Amino acid sequence: MSRYLAQRYASLQAYVPGEQPREKGLIKLNTNESPYPPAPEVCRAIDAAEVADLRLYSDPTSSALKEKLANHYGVKKENIFLSNGSDELLNFAFQAFGERGVCFADITYGFYQVYCQLHGWQGQKIPLREGFQLDYRDYCGLGKMVVIANPNAPTGLSIPSWQVEKILKSNEGSLVLIDEAYVDFGGESCLSLLDRYENLLISRTFSKSRCLAGGRLGYAFGSPEVIADLEKLKFSTNPYNLDRLTLRLGEKTVEAEDYYRDVWNKIMKTRDWTAGQLENLGFQVLPSQTNFLFIRREGLDGKAFYQQLRSRRILVRHFEDSRIRQFNRVTIGTQAQMEAFLEATRQILGGTV
Ligand SMILES: *Cc1c(COP(=O)(O)O)cnc(C)c1O
Repeated sequence: MSRYLAQRYASLQAYVPGEQPREKGLIKLNTNESPYPPAPEVCRAIDAAEVADLRLYSDPTSSALKEKLANHYGVKKENIFLSNGSDELLNFAFQAFGERGVCFADITYGFYQVYCQLHGWQGQKIPLREGFQLDYRDYCGLGKMVVIANPNAPTGLSIPSWQVEKILKSNEGSLVLIDEAYVDFGGESCLSLLDRYENLLISRTFSKSRCLAGGRLGYAFGSPEVIADLEKLKFSTNPYNLDRLTLRLGEKTVEAEDYYRDVWNKIMKTRDWTAGQLENLGFQVLPSQTNFLFIRREGLDGKAFYQQLRSRRILVRHFEDSRIRQFNRVTIGTQAQMEAFLEATRQILGGTV
C-alpha cells in the first residue's frame, strides 16, 4: 500500500478470483466456465475489418445489442442495462442502491461483501437455514437493499419466483437485486415480475451459459427508472464500458439461441449423471440448478480432496469459510472430463478409505 491511498480503502479486502492457471492440459472445473465454445457464427464474427474498426469508439448506448436482447426476452430497451461482465453491473447496483445497508446470505457470491466494503455500506449476512436452504421470510420487510443469487452459488440451490415476489412486495422502499447468473441451467427466472415491481433488478451474464466468460458481458433487467440510475453511474464512470468486439459477439450470441439451448441441455444431462455417480460413491450432493455441483463426503477433507485432484491435474474449488470447508464446488465439464474427474475421485477414495 502506498501512502497516497485514500484512508477509506486502507482496510478494503479485494475479491480473490478463482485460479486461472496458465499451464495447459488441466481439466478446469473451478470457475464455472462452459466446457463448450461459443456458437460457430460467434466464433466467426470477428474479421480483420472489425479489428480495423477499433480505431472508432464503441456505441456508448449499446443500442443494437439492447434491441436484440429486448426482442429476445420480450422487454423494452429501456428495461436493459449492459455491463463489462455482470460484476460491473453488480458494482454499479451496490453503489446506486446500497446506502441504507445491504443484506445477503452468509453463504453466497463473495463479491457482495466486497462491494459493500468498497462503497462503505453496511452489509448484513443472513444465515442460510438447515441444508443451506434460503428462507424467503428472512428477507421480508427489512428496509434495506436485498441481494439474492438465484440459483445461489456455491450451493446450487434456488427459490421459486413466488418467493421472490413476497420479498419484492414486502420491501417496496428498497431495491431487490436477483442475481440470475445461473438461471439458464434450470432455475426459475423472476423476469415475469418485472412489469409489476419497480424495485426489482435482475442481473444476468454471458459468462456461464453463453460460453463467453472471457468476453466480459453482463446484462440486467429493471424498471426504466432503475436502469436510468445505473446508466447515470456508468456515464459518470466509463461511457465506453463495452468494446466494439464484445458488443458484436453479444449480438451474434443472442441470434444463436438454439445452439445455446443444446449446450444447456447437454450440461444439465451431464450434471445429473455426475450427481448420481457421486452419490454412488458416498457423496452428499446438493440438488443443483446450475452448471456446478456442491458436494461433500464424510471422512474426506475438502482441502485435501482439492489438493489430491490438483495433483492429478484436475482443478475444483474448495472454500476456507468454516461452514463450507468440507465441501467442494465442481463445475460441470464435458462428459469425458467428468468421467476423468470420477476416475480420479475413485482413485483418491481407494487410497483413503
Ligand atoms: C460468475 C458470477 C457472476 C459474475 O460473472 P461475470 O463474469 O462478471 O459476468 C455474478 N454472480 C454470480 C453468482 C456468479 O457466480
